[in-house]
Parts: sequence; structure tokens; C-alpha cells
Amino acid sequence: MTGFATLDDLAFPPFEPGTVWLVGAGPGAPGLLSLLGYHALQQADVIVYDELVADTLLAMAPATTERVYAGKRGGKPSEKQADITLRLIEWATAGRKVLRLKGGDPMMFGRGAEEAMALAAHGIPFRIVPGITTGVGGLAYAGIPVTYRDTNHAVIFLTGHDETGSIPASVDWAAIATAAPVIVMYMAAKHLVSIAEKLIAAGRSRDDSLAVVCHATLPDQYTIDATLGTAGEIVGAIQTPAIVVLGPVGALREHLAWRVGALAENPLG
Ligand code: SAH
Repeated sequence: MTGFATLDDLAFPPFEPGTVWLVGAGPGAPGLLSLLGYHALQQADVIVYDELVADTLLAMAPATTERVYAGKRGGKPSEKQADITLRLIEWATAGRKVLRLKGGDPMMFGRGAEEAMALAAHGIPFRIVPGITTGVGGLAYAGIPVTYRDTNHAVIFLTGHDETGSIPASVDWAAIATAAPVIVMYMAAKHLVSIAEKLIAAGRSRDDSLAVVCHATLPDQYTIDATLGTAGEIVGAIQTPAIVVLGPVGALREHLAWRVGALAENPLG
């Protein structure tokens, strides 16, 4: 079978004028966008997108759709969050169909909830379309499962950055270090060595395996293997965006790294 004719028969919810759709774009590869996300791309009047949303994915929207960059990324000048939110409200109030497209899942360390709170406070109707988060889907593209029966019954998702760019002050390192065998770290490249030191000081073994997946799901994806104790030796080889996973699941990559050769070449992922 070829073609996607059956998509036209699906009962997609209408993208009503004056509403905002907060959509997760997935980790990067355009093929990981959901059907509702694809529908939103076709229907939107204006797409407000972040730094980590791939060009190849934006290219799937009609050429005439307005695209507005609202990037936010550590270390680079970016539009203030309040300004982005104000613009979403303004455009929705003006009756436009506003697609807010965010990398990964909008509710995972992506300020999606903050934007939704502002929309709710202003009475703007919105819909949330989840996306595949990098800490699950990006790792899967490297052959790393976030859970595995023999190794872990719990996972922690951690951010290495707070809104000031520092390691979040509210993190209870002693609790985190030993609470779960697997810790998935977003935005952790910059402070990786300090984070590793904190975890070791809190009782985590220096020998625990650490895997860093750079440019996950993109054509130039690569993975670096280290241990918590050798984090300092590999930081120079990390290119962002990068997702870090600490714990025994990283070793399964030896058996599960499926994205090799021709499988890594398809531009959809
Ligand atoms: N909402 C996003 C996360 C936003 S925070 C999600 O659910 O995935 C941004 C962080 O996500 C980056 O610093 C990096 O740690 C991770 N990230 C996003 N895209 C990535 C990619 N293609 N490869 C590796 N890490 C990625």
C-alpha cells in the first residue's frame, strides 16, 4: 500500500480560530510527530516554534503558513518567555489558529505548562498534543530503554538547568542519587561534571555507566559511553542538544543499537 489517503477519512478535531494548540514535535526526526501534530501543522495560521524543532518538520507545513521563531536555549540570547506568551494570547485573541510547537513533549522541561497557565488565565481555549520526549524516544533511537525488568523499576527525569542557567537549587541530591537506578538528564551537558560530582558525593558509584546521546534521532546522532567518574573526560566530545542517562540501561545499547547503516539515513527518522 502506498499513500496516506486514509488520513483524510479520520475525524480530526477542528483547529478552531482563536485557539492555541500546544504541540510536542518529538525529539527531532519529523517521523516522530503525532497525527494530531501533523494535522495542526496543516491547519495552523501561525506556527510559533522553538530552537530544537527541526527545519525538516517545519517544512511539512504549507509554504504560506507564517512561521515565528521563539527559541529559548541555554547560553544564547532568546526572547523573554513573557513576550512569547503575550504573542500567543494576542494572536489567539485576533482569531488566528495558533500552533505552539515545542521540542519533545511540551510538558517535559519545556515550559509548556507555564504557557498553558497563561492561556488559561486569559480565557484562551487551548489543546495539548503530547510529543515523544527525548528522554524516552531519543534514548530509544540509541538502543537504550528507560526501563528494563532486570535493572530498574523506577526512573528519574532530571533537569541540569533552572531558569537562571544554574543547576537547580531545589534538587535533593542525596535523595536522587539513590532513589532510582536510572536517572535521565535533560539540559545537563553544561554542568555535567558538577552534577556527576554531586551524585558521587551523595553516594552514587563512580563506576555507574553514563551514556550521552547527542543529536538524538537526527541523521548525525551519536552516543558517547562513560562512567559517572569519567564524565570530565568526555564533556569535550558532547555536542548539544544531548540527553544523558545514568544507570545500567545504557549497557543494553550493545544489544539494542538498531539505528545503524541504512536505518540511520532516512530523513523522517
Ligand atoms: N520538552 C523537551 C525537552 C526540552 S529541554 C522534551 O520533551 O524532549 C531541552 C533538552 O532536551 C536539551 O537540553 C536536551 O537535553 C534534550 N534534547 C532535546 N532534543 C534533543 C535531541 N535531539 N537530542 C538530544 N537531546 C535533546
